Amino acid sequence: PNHIVVIGGSLAGARALEAARRLGFAGRLTLVGAEAHVPYDRPPLSKDFLDADKASAIPYFSGAEDMAKRLDVQLLLGKAATGIDLTHRKLRIDESTLDYDAALIATGASARALSTPPNLNGVSTLRTVDDAQRVRAAMDRGARVVVIGAGFIGSEVASAVRKRGSQVTMIEALPVPLARAVGRTAGQWLSAVHARHGTELICGVAVDAVVGNDTVEGVLLADGRSIPADLVVVGIGAIPATDWLADSGLDIENGILCDATMRAADSVWAAGDVSRWYSQDFKMHLRVEHWTNAADQGAHAMRNLLDPAHATPYRHIPYFWSDWYGHRIQLAGLAVGEPTVVAGDTSTDKFVALFRDGERLVGALCLNRRADVMRYRALIAEGGSWTDGLELARQRNAVVS
Ligand code: FAD
Repeated sequence: PNHIVVIGGSLAGARALEAARRLGFAGRLTLVGAEAHVPYDRPPLSKDFLDADKASAIPYFSGAEDMAKRLDVQLLLGKAATGIDLTHRKLRIDESTLDYDAALIATGASARALSTPPNLNGVSTLRTVDDAQRVRAAMDRGARVVVIGAGFIGSEVASAVRKRGSQVTMIEALPVPLARAVGRTAGQWLSAVHARHGTELICGVAVDAVVGNDTVEGVLLADGRSIPADLVVVGIGAIPATDWLADSGLDIENGILCDATMRAADSVWAAGDVSRWYSQDFKMHLRVEHWTNAADQGAHAMRNLLDPAHATPYRHIPYFWSDWYGHRIQLAGLAVGEPTVVAGDTSTDKFVALFRDGERLVGALCLNRRADVMRYRALIAEGGSWTDGLELARQRNAVVS
């Protein structure tokens, strides 16, 4: 291709651009990004960025601030793509169009809003640095905080509030938090971490309304309870950013459908939170919203885009981490079925639990066992058996104890 356009200026998009130049692409590169900022990192936004003891500098990726020059890429920032014409290879940006030879879509996901969006001051999701600045400013003013949704981001926000020594209430509509991410059993274990650190967690109750006039005053629950708040952080999941592709002809049900090589259509590739690809490791389609996947997939999709004749499958065992109250939670692989505890004790802040699919090891959930998780991940990638998993646990426990 002579002209490659990357749509979405965050992790997957930035890694794709870096890869293009690293692999020797000498043609024209354009980045179209809806946010006005050069690429920055999201995980710190719900962690250090909210810490009163730390500076609230925007966590730009290293090298992002001079990427236009360094990578010789034209940056069209603060501009959202509004459509794509696959036949004529034209990207639409409002009234204008941009011709391309190959496109890499990395538009990620947007925070899900409450279904009755109250246009109140003091209510925010947490996806962008602009959101994080709003949330931090309210915390700095000493706001009483309610978090709606006990997922990973909501849990990190609650943990940041506790670090400031304030009270926080988290409300989760499902009976068990994180059931979709780690299963019900492990979700229970992790909700006990909140209890041990003084966060009030109310599960199995929906939010009826967020109340207030101009500014939020509190949250009304379906069981009649009312909880006062000056800041409500909504962490109820994310939706792949595909609205702009509605008439494109691409399959966008739960993300852009890609083959195993991250190709979505002729000359169109996708990567990161927005993509749903065929995983050769698990023989099924996956869409994951994890940092490591976005980083690896962005680079892999670009490599295939540059040499489609030799495109290779994207092999990846999902991995993510989350930090609560100074503890690190890590999951490698998939959390399917019932977990088996192989190290530590789930009533404490240190354990390892493994997941199996028949005779195959498919997942490992670790709390404060940082040195273990990548070993399990490597074993899962090799197609390790359940017995191999138990053997690795035995070896690791011998080392740790
Ligand atoms: P995104 O980061 O969502 O970026 C997509 C970009 O595309 C955005 O800038 C968006 O504005 C832009 N865009 C959207 N539509 C258009 C359009 N039509 N035209 C142009 N541009 C468009 N993962 C972990 O593994 N561990 C963690 O601890 C962790 N913590 C997180 C904390 C927070 C607060 C958040 C929000 C996420 C966290 N994640 C974490 C997830 C991780 O950050 C994401 O998986 C990663 O950012 C995905 O990168 P991406 O490039 O695919 O998409």
